[in-house]
Amino acid sequence: MNIDFYNPVSILSGKDCFKNFTNYRQFGERCMIVCGKNSARRSGALADAEKGLSEAGIAYLVFDKIEPNPLVSTAYEGGRAAREYGADFIVGIGGGSPLDAAKAIAAFAANPGLSQDQLFTAQRKKALPVLAVNTTAGTGSEVTPYSILTVPEIGNKRSLSGNDLYARIAFLDPAYTLSLPLSQTMSTAVDALCHAVEGYFMKKANPVSDALAEKCIPALCSGIRSALAGDLGYTVREELLYASTLAGIVISRTGTGFVHSTGYMLTYHNGVPHGNANAYFIADFVDFMGKTAPERAKRIYALCGVENAGGLYSLVSSCPEMKLNLKLDRETLSVYADKAAGAKNVSNAISSITRDELYGILEKRLG
Ligand code: NAP
Ligand code: ZN
Repeated sequence: MNIDFYNPVSILSGKDCFKNFTNYRQFGERCMIVCGKNSARRSGALADAEKGLSEAGIAYLVFDKIEPNPLVSTAYEGGRAAREYGADFIVGIGGGSPLDAAKAIAAFAANPGLSQDQLFTAQRKKALPVLAVNTTAGTGSEVTPYSILTVPEIGNKRSLSGNDLYARIAFLDPAYTLSLPLSQTMSTAVDALCHAVEGYFMKKANPVSDALAEKCIPALCSGIRSALAGDLGYTVREELLYASTLAGIVISRTGTGFVHSTGYMLTYHNGVPHGNANAYFIADFVDFMGKTAPERAKRIYALCGVENAGGLYSLVSSCPEMKLNLKLDRETLSVYADKAAGAKNVSNAISSITRDELYGILEKRLG
């Protein structure tokens, strides 16, 4: 069996791991901090970055314009700002949105001639170094080579990938995730669960990605059950953060499947948060893959502590704050099925779903 494994991210973890970091000068003398409007400040991570950079004698600029599901145009603007400032490296602080934007900004900054469209297609020089500071426990962006951006011109999200987009250092301090409300805690945890579960059925799954998935799935499900029971304390945050990073390492090698390509439709067109969108489809995904790999599907149910696909759906959908009650007409579902079935992710899996099979799942959950 082929062990296809590569993940060059240095991971620092534990309380104050970022606050106590001093070794910035290895990356240069000028930095741009990339974050969203509130969470970097609210979590305390931005103050820790500003203090650490100042004490290390690094000049910095804060670019705090990153919206959830970041636009490629925002990353382009950030890239121009970083270049004009002369940034040597980028510190991304936030959930998947600021971290993905930080990677794209690092690529734009290193490639002055690159248009927004060319970012996804053209050969380019290596991106600036990125340091990633998590404030959510879900996407795994801190350990993946992907940056997922919203592109209105194609009515969808588009993914950029490259070994230069791996963060140089990922900082996992669970304390920064304490301010996440229940709905977003659940949404991001379910996203991480989808990463590990989808990765288990991809063609590129291998003994290392399987071992990581088998390790993090029970931890994610335990964290989800604790959160549902009202425990959002430090220990649960720690369990969710470490497990979501392991799930990120899984997809860094395997990629994701139709759960993600279909979820993007609900996020782009209906504003459904990323993890909530995935929650609609994960149980049907395991059920579908189980037709080709029944032992693997059985193993996933056991790791999640459920009997079957129905049990898995109950687990990921039982949080009322997630509001998984979207209903759509047949015409809309048909358009979503066309688009999602044509996505690259679909062919990553051990078993390819047809457009009509995908329509059936969409109608069952949203019709
Ligand atoms: P997010 O979009 O980064 O953040 C969602 C919301 O939560 C924002 O309003 C954010 O505020 C807020 N928030 C973040 N941390 C918080 C905290 N500690 N306390 C309170 N509020 C907080 O959410 P996400 O689910 O982490 O990221 C989703 C994005 O990641 C999507 O665009 C998805 O496509 C992408 N993704 C990437 C990968 C990858 O491998 N690169 C994998 C899966 C998903 P602010 O706006 O103020 O920051
Ligand atoms: Zn995801």
